[in-house]
Amino acid sequence: MTRPIRLEISLPAIRHNFLLTRRHSQARSLFAVVKANAYGHGVLDTAKALADLADGFALLNIEDAVRLREAGLDKPIALLEGPFDAAEAAAMADYRLCGAIHSQQQMDWLAKGSAKRPVDVWLKVNSGMNRLGFRPEAAIAAQARLAALPQARAAAIMTHFATADDDYGVAEQWQRFLPVAAASGLPVSAANSAALLRHPDTHGDIGRPGIVLYGASPFEDRAGAELGLRPAMTLSADIIAVQQLQPGDAVGYGRRFIADRPMRIGVVACGYADGYPRIAANGAPAAIDGQACPLLGRVSMDMLTVDISRLPQAGVGSRVELWGPSAPIEKVAAAAGTISYELMCAAAPRVPRVVRD
Ligand SMILES: *Cc1c(COP(=O)(O)O)cnc(C)c1O
Repeated sequence: MTRPIRLEISLPAIRHNFLLTRRHSQARSLFAVVKANAYGHGVLDTAKALADLADGFALLNIEDAVRLREAGLDKPIALLEGPFDAAEAAAMADYRLCGAIHSQQQMDWLAKGSAKRPVDVWLKVNSGMNRLGFRPEAAIAAQARLAALPQARAAAIMTHFATADDDYGVAEQWQRFLPVAAASGLPVSAANSAALLRHPDTHGDIGRPGIVLYGASPFEDRAGAELGLRPAMTLSADIIAVQQLQPGDAVGYGRRFIADRPMRIGVVACGYADGYPRIAANGAPAAIDGQACPLLGRVSMDMLTVDISRLPQAGVGSRVELWGPSAPIEKVAAAAGTISYELMCAAAPRVPRVVRD
């Protein structure tokens, strides 16, 4: 492929970010969250990069877990939502996968399996997020049912925070979860990235960092760089044409941008079909050789436009960083009314990837 666009993944950055997270963490072990193809970074590459550092891995698709096992990864692998049917419950035993059990139905599936290889279960408690899990008052009964199943072994008790990254904080959920966790006597897993950085009292035994491993901040008010994180994903593409605008000239679909002075703009070989958000506002950061060249005009399917008026040296063939070390993905996401997670996961398969190690 010769279209001048690429997605670069830095495995050293992921390793750096893991070690930084480890320094913040009081949890005994850290399971690297590699769901959604490692937030778009590649589940195999990421797991290999962290194989000697992480205590385990956490993801959703059993297919990905099997790929990791078949690639020789020996570390514990946790399914964050547990099995989706009885066959998956059986596969958990076959592939030595641990993971969440959040419902009676999942226990029914486990109960159909072989008792020869009990599955390590993380009992999931709904402490206030109201997505998955047993309500706190039902958790101990669930644990008792689990204890009676020869196909399962309770290995941990877990919950997930809705607001570890914002001012609401975790106190309310933690107060609901803690007594149940204590009564269960099981190892505790509660902390996502934000809780690992901001709420040390919730670290428990098994931390579950995701976004920080990829170098983005979980917080609206702190950039990844301020936290010492290194961006692991860089999306860049070349300028393939340059236009000189006169005052009053409009750019792209819908005439969303209209020049109020003479300007030079670069047309970049990246559009929403590559995963760049169509909805990104004028002014979303981008950079050439570390110098700002903000987005202007509406993003089209295969192209977008940036302001290079202040970069006389830039022209056709200049490489534009659309997110990465010089154009923080959190800021690009904010300009599109979303979060870095969504942009990372949306990087399109048609974009050629380069993995650096
Ligand atoms: C995605 C996820 C995490 C990781 O969250 P980050 O905010 O990316 O650190 C942890 N636990 C569960 C259950 C998750 O679904």
